[in-house]
Amino acid sequence: MLRDAFLSRLRSPGRPTVSVEFFPPKKPEEAAAMLETARALQPLGIDFASFTYGAGGSDRSTVLEYGSKLVQAGFPLIAHLTCVGHSRAELADIIAKYDDAGFAGILALRGDPPKGQTEFTAHPEGFAHALGLVDLIRRERPGRFAVGVAGFPERHPSSPDDLSDIRHLAGKVAAGADFVTTQLFLDNEDYFRFVARARAAGVSVPILPGIMPVLSLKQARRFCGFCQAKIPAALIQELEACGEDEEAQRKVGVSWAGRQIRGLLGRGVPGYHVYILNRSQSALELFAQLKS
Ligand SMILES: Cc1cc2nc3c(=O)[nH]c(=O)nc-3n(C[C@H](O)[C@H](O)[C@H](O)COP(=O)(O)OP(=O)(O)OC[C@H]3O[C@@H](n4cnc5c(N)ncnc54)[C@H](O)[C@@H]3O)c2cc1C
Repeated sequence: MLRDAFLSRLRSPGRPTVSVEFFPPKKPEEAAAMLETARALQPLGIDFASFTYGAGGSDRSTVLEYGSKLVQAGFPLIAHLTCVGHSRAELADIIAKYDDAGFAGILALRGDPPKGQTEFTAHPEGFAHALGLVDLIRRERPGRFAVGVAGFPERHPSSPDDLSDIRHLAGKVAAGADFVTTQLFLDNEDYFRFVARARAAGVSVPILPGIMPVLSLKQARRFCGFCQAKIPAALIQELEACGEDEEAQRKVGVSWAGRQIRGLLGRGVPGYHVYILNRSQSALELFAQLKS
């Protein structure tokens, strides 16, 4: 079964599990570019792909269509699912569709408030936290999916402190999550401190570090501002040294991500997850750098 193959891969020591993240394209030309990226990455021995779920208010209908295409392209797929705007019955229906589509797993998320809203408001018949969704997946399709949840090396932006943040993570794992994928971080020490907190709270499942090769200083500031991740001074310096040269900045991003991954692998992480933003160039350069 896909789930068992996925989990035994993730838990096998000795060879790190490598995954890449795609997001649903909005236009036909974006879809073509995403599938081209998938085809380019497929021969590189990537263990699975994950596919994000549109934020509230955006078109979510393409997840099944393009997720299935990624499966056809040869990737075991972890499809994301969020609680935003969904009743429990709707979520159960989507879980059944993910089953029919042959997805290997689900990353169970709460989701962010839709554009224009600052506070997350649960659907009246839905869930206020990802924990409810983990539980629903387990009850609807026992043993069918590998279930992942999100973790935040620099803590979730709305968590008041590290302790409550990690307590809620431990709750999701106790409800049946098989693995954790982290939010992007640019300083490995944040990841290792987070893992230490999680282990101390009894979280024993694999914690996959999420790495994003930044494209430019402007893009890094936008992304990191949103998820409240720090940009190390050394990375800012390297990016600023490129001036307005965007291609040089992109290359710095690839090099930094490569150095991060080498540092993580050197300390025995179970694998790594790359936020490739549907772009092949940085991803291909990164994987080539890691092979050399
Ligand atoms: C790897 C990864 C992938 C993502 N993919 C997507 C995606 O595809 N689509 C998308 O829209 N968003 C995605 N996100 C963003 C995510 O939806 C947001 O970060 C969201 O704000 C939190 O989701 P969560 O699943 O961690 O929520 P939760 O686990 O519900 O946590 C949200 C907040 O509530 C707190 N909390 C949890 N349980 C309780 C409780 N019982 N009582 C009180 N407080 C509690 C937590 O500490 C945290 O502060 C992703 C994030 C990550 C890290």
